Amino acid sequence: MRPPVLDPLFSSIRSLTGVGPKIARMLAKVLDVDMATGEPWLIDLLQLMPHSSIDRRNRVTVADAQEGAIATLELTVGRHQPPLPGKRNIPYRVFAHDTSGSITLVFFHAQASWLQGQLPVGGQVIVSGKVECFNGQPSMVHPDHITTVADSAALPLVEPVYPSTAGLSAKTVARAMLEALTHIPALPEWQEKHFHQREDFPAYAQALARIHAPQDPADIALTTPARRRLAYDELLAGQLALALVRLKTRRLSGRALPLHGTCTNRLRDSLPFRLTQGQEQAIDEISTDLAAPERMLRLLQGDVGAGKTVVALLAMAQAAESEGQSALMAPTEVLARQHFATIAPLAEKAGLQTALLTGREKGCERERILASLQQGQIHIIIGTHALIQEGVEFRNLALAIIDEQHRFGVHQRLQLTGKGNAPDMLVMTATPIPRTLVLTAFGDMDVSRLTEKPAGRKPIKTATLPAERMEELLTRISHALSAGEKLYWICPLVEESENSDLTAATERFEVLTQRFGDMVGLVHGKMPAAQKDVAMADFKTGKTRLLVATTVVEVGVDVPDASIIVIEHSERFGLAQLHQLRGRVGRSDKPSSCTLLYKEPLSATARARLNVMRETEDGFVIAEEDLRLRGEGDLLGTKQSGVPGFHLADIEAHRDLLETARRDARLILEQDSELESPRGQALRLLLYLFRRDDAIRLLRAG
Ligand code: ADP
Ligand code: MG
Repeated sequence: MRPPVLDPLFSSIRSLTGVGPKIARMLAKVLDVDMATGEPWLIDLLQLMPHSSIDRRNRVTVADAQEGAIATLELTVGRHQPPLPGKRNIPYRVFAHDTSGSITLVFFHAQASWLQGQLPVGGQVIVSGKVECFNGQPSMVHPDHITTVADSAALPLVEPVYPSTAGLSAKTVARAMLEALTHIPALPEWQEKHFHQREDFPAYAQALARIHAPQDPADIALTTPARRRLAYDELLAGQLALALVRLKTRRLSGRALPLHGTCTNRLRDSLPFRLTQGQEQAIDEISTDLAAPERMLRLLQGDVGAGKTVVALLAMAQAAESEGQSALMAPTEVLARQHFATIAPLAEKAGLQTALLTGREKGCERERILASLQQGQIHIIIGTHALIQEGVEFRNLALAIIDEQHRFGVHQRLQLTGKGNAPDMLVMTATPIPRTLVLTAFGDMDVSRLTEKPAGRKPIKTATLPAERMEELLTRISHALSAGEKLYWICPLVEESENSDLTAATERFEVLTQRFGDMVGLVHGKMPAAQKDVAMADFKTGKTRLLVATTVVEVGVDVPDASIIVIEHSERFGLAQLHQLRGRVGRSDKPSSCTLLYKEPLSATARARLNVMRETEDGFVIAEEDLRLRGEGDLLGTKQSGVPGFHLADIEAHRDLLETARRDARLILEQDSELESPRGQALRLLLYLFRRDDAIRLLRAG
């Protein structure tokens, strides 16, 4: 199936000179190729990018060589001084000089015959390596390169440095790479002509050559046309594959769930508030998608407290108007129960049957729920991972909703949608994912955003406070409690571990109880579920008014009249998490505050994070800052959610290219949905090169 022109690139790295089974295994490790599925191919090797380079153009005399710098020296070899027999730990020394001075070349565990061949007494040689100073005398331990003056052209002037692994020498990787370059076949250009020209991109093979055989250290920078070209190739392959999947799955499946108004109108009438403009718009967008015969793939982004749940509920009601069942999956039990508590009463008023399914519904109760789900009596089911277990069957799952999607992996998403026949899908997230990440993670998914918060919300006053001044804070808390306020106190860990000074929630709970009595409650992840419920319910009803909690309250928990949050050891939390936690307050028209307790010394990043928190409440600004401060992987939990990592593209540096790649992919498929034109054929090669050939199977055979 793979076009034969690509064969040279898809041959084993064992075909390279000097690469035997042992080196192949080490290379596989560096290239992250699982040897169980076969040896790495040349294309894998070529896609390994150097992270830096060594500049050997610095030709100096011994006298001018800087200590610690890489220098390339032309030397006359003098005396050899092998270690005395039996003294294996003493190095072999070779003394050499030029007109300016002398230098000692030092070799440990060296083979005398090899050294005599490389460094013949009286010979003229070029050596390159790091100059050191030993007892006031210049020396070089294990020069990186030794050549004769006659062969000096073979010395790499700018040497790329690759990620490596123990036992694998830099020289071996570099040599294999140079040989691999010679195997790149002539390939047609798959990039759009005008774009390619405008960006001054080299051809594919040239781009690889420029990076693996650089002439200047600047050649390997992320911003060079060569590197940008390769990054664009990778991004385009990714976007094209996603767009193909989307085009084909949409075409294959989907059903119309038109808006009749029978349930939705009743639901709207029973809402205790007016929907915001943003909610109306999101509902409208989702409603249109549901009504269309194509499958919906939509992301609903809305900052914490923006009111996503009711949007989801109206979507589920619309599905029910066409006898479609809906499932809402949440990442934690607390959250699933809370959704259920909000949704069930409203849904019932609209004549919809709801059910809850978590790990706690067992035995007969579970059987009963599963039976009525299968018979179609339940319109809306809300739950945790329990929803994707075996034995959970729907009569007609028409809409799958995933809340706080970054907590779930791609396979879990698929497992849920797999319970129906390509149901419409809505994913909701409170992490305001920057556009770039939406694209890499989901491809061309449609996005609805809730940008405004429900009316009447007041800004949250955020302050930082060193832990030493906790007493001041406790005094203020005491006043707040007397005034009837409710507050959260967040601690990072459940138990004090021996080698950590994190304050345990239980310990903090005891200290605060001594001071404030039975007004204090406690909830943490290691509690039995029933106890957790009681703790949350007590806080909601006001039986307790100071809730000590771990991050179990991070996502979604909704107690609108809580107005103060204290986050202990805030320096240990990531930005996204701090933002989520802070979002637990500011959910009503009461003024609210957030105190970020921290312990000195603060790292530069921790300080920056706390500053961001003080300066803004805008989730999108925070997400962008988060991306800047810690790189793209963590923010979305992309590693965990199974988004393939990029080898050549760097989301920060090549951001602009991603958007172009998305538009390019869309245009390509509009004009040539089967990739049959000459450019389409070339693009098929691109998909193979970046292992996106799964997408090719979706194309018409032949
Ligand atoms: P999130 O987007 O974080 O999931 P929720 O859906 O939990 O937010 O809503 C947060 C709170 O705001 C809930 O108590 C909800 O009832 C309330 N709410 C939602 N929409 C509105 C609105 N339009 N006006 C007033 N309150 C609203
Ligand atoms: Mg929510």
